[in-house]
Amino acid sequence: MQHDLVVIGGGPGGYVAAIRAAQLGMKAAVVEKEEKLGGTCLRVGCIPSKALLESSHKFEEAGHEFGQHGIRVAGVTLDLGAMMKRKDEVVGTLSKGIEALLAKNKVTRIRGTGRLAGPGRVEVTHADGAKTALEAPQIIIAVGSRAVVLPGIEVDGRLVGTSTEALAFDAVPGHLVVIGGGYIGLELGSVWRRLGAKVTVLEYADRILAGLDGEIAAEALPLFRKQGLDIRLGAKVKSARAVGTRCVVECEGQEPIECDRVLVATGRRPATEDLGLETVGIEVDRRGCIPVDGRFRTAAAGVYAIGDCIPGPMLAHKAEEDGVACVEAMHSGWAHVDYDLVPAVVFTHPEIAAVGKTEEQLVAAGAAFKKGVFPFRANGRARTINDTAGKVKVLADAATDRVLGVHIIGPAAGDLIGEAAAAMNFGATAEDIARVCHAHPTLPEALKEAALAVHGQAIHA
Ligand SMILES: Cc1cc2nc3c(=O)[nH]c(=O)nc-3n(C[C@H](O)[C@H](O)[C@H](O)COP(=O)(O)OP(=O)(O)OC[C@H]3O[C@@H](n4cnc5c(N)ncnc54)[C@H](O)[C@@H]3O)c2cc1C
Repeated sequence: MQHDLVVIGGGPGGYVAAIRAAQLGMKAAVVEKEEKLGGTCLRVGCIPSKALLESSHKFEEAGHEFGQHGIRVAGVTLDLGAMMKRKDEVVGTLSKGIEALLAKNKVTRIRGTGRLAGPGRVEVTHADGAKTALEAPQIIIAVGSRAVVLPGIEVDGRLVGTSTEALAFDAVPGHLVVIGGGYIGLELGSVWRRLGAKVTVLEYADRILAGLDGEIAAEALPLFRKQGLDIRLGAKVKSARAVGTRCVVECEGQEPIECDRVLVATGRRPATEDLGLETVGIEVDRRGCIPVDGRFRTAAAGVYAIGDCIPGPMLAHKAEEDGVACVEAMHSGWAHVDYDLVPAVVFTHPEIAAVGKTEEQLVAAGAAFKKGVFPFRANGRARTINDTAGKVKVLADAATDRVLGVHIIGPAAGDLIGEAAAAMNFGATAEDIARVCHAHPTLPEALKEAALAVHGQAIHA
């Protein structure tokens, strides 16, 4: 079969690239080995985790918080089966939506495992073992990533598992040990803690949420501990394995921990094995990433790579941006993604969101900057929704006032960061944000006030 473009992988990088290619007039095909389109993000990542975070948050609110609003609810109980069914329905509906989008854009969907088979050729192996040969002058590799499992940890997919298993436990574990204090561990740890599990988070570093602004992560730690997450820093896990119907986790210098389930959340790595890369002369780097240039071109002519399988943040929206830019560059020779302005969100409660440089990065670079901070406890809307923990922090260039970073911990931080990202993409100064009329009473007023605070002019704090 002859196409202008064949994309291997139907995740947010791959399917978005194919749709954009079709919009630009290319005959495109997407090869996806799983039944459902949408990749890690939709099947076992962003979407199911956010569905469970929402459901478990409502459960917690109904059980512990409605009373503060004068709403008495007696006998709140959990129907885990119904909660999981709702999550699966959300995933199913969105996946069907992607199928419909591919059909609408006349993108061919091919079910099977794709493999490069020399220049311009992709061989697809179908579930029944049959093979299809595809030809295209342009091929995009968008195969995503998989969980990293450290030596000594015996994942059995039953009691010791990754996020994929933790999104589908059939019962609330009595005691869940989470290995890794990054966003996946904290989000899924929060889900099961809210549903009634005792949750212990073991983090090797001396802080949680590596890579995010240190002040914000330090503010999050006691909040999460207060919620009941037993977060242990400096914990070096040596082994984790199932023993009968329980699990044992061994940490250096500590008593072994017995628990009911283990969630391994120690990061992800590109899923670049068995792709036939050698047939076109591509070599992966030390981490398994496919090296690309600014237009997503690999070492092989006509072969491109995007998303989690290339260097950069492993985030769905970054994969989508890669996909669009890659195809536009093929078409026009031009593409641009500003990797300094890729927002990151942690969907715990409170949420945490960031865009641009952290304070540590600015200090390390010797940059002269000013900082404005505004707490949500001084924001009217946060008071009305009873969600006052956290703050907004704006970092701006000391000389030009250009915003260099915005870091938020607090209600709807993941939505608030959009305004900051848009402003920074237009090169806004702190004064620009401060002079925008923000509706009252709303949470974004906290961003305006933090921007005012850069110059010591916050009104409400
Ligand atoms: C628990 C969890 C929560 C997450 N939450 C968020 C979040 O809230 N926000 C966010 O931005 N990111 C989140 N992520 C990360 C996000 O899922 C990834 O960054 C994103 O899915 C990467 O997109 P991609 O298209 O590069 O790869 P993927 O989504 O991994 O898609 C790759 C696809 O390629 C297919 N494939 C692989 N090899 C082959 C082959 N040889 N032939 C055919 N098909 C193949 C795979 O089956 C897969 O469907 C989360 C991840 C996890 C695990």
